[in-house]
Amino acid sequence: MARVAAWDTALQLVPMSRAYQDTCDFCGKAKGEVNHWYRLKVTPHGTLIILPSVGQPENSTIKDACGSSCVSQGVSRFLDHKTLEPK
Ligand SMILES: [Zn+2]
Repeated sequence: MARVAAWDTALQLVPMSRAYQDTCDFCGKAKGEVNHWYRLKVTPHGTLIILPSVGQPENSTIKDACGSSCVSQGVSRFLDHKTLEPK
């Protein structure tokens, strides 16, 4: 059974090592100054984590979502296919 976890504490201990483009992984929208973006990640144990977008992502398996609509797309992908990657 799929588990969905919400993690509302800010992730602040992320490496700043790789080039990072601020675009939504679901709709392609560019990130602006003011935002309420989220990050989605599937852990090695198969748990979906949703957290506020702070700093740069720790790796490319983390997906940026520009709002609740795109978070919903990510949750749907996870529930239907156990991945955040598009079909
Ligand atoms: Zn989006």
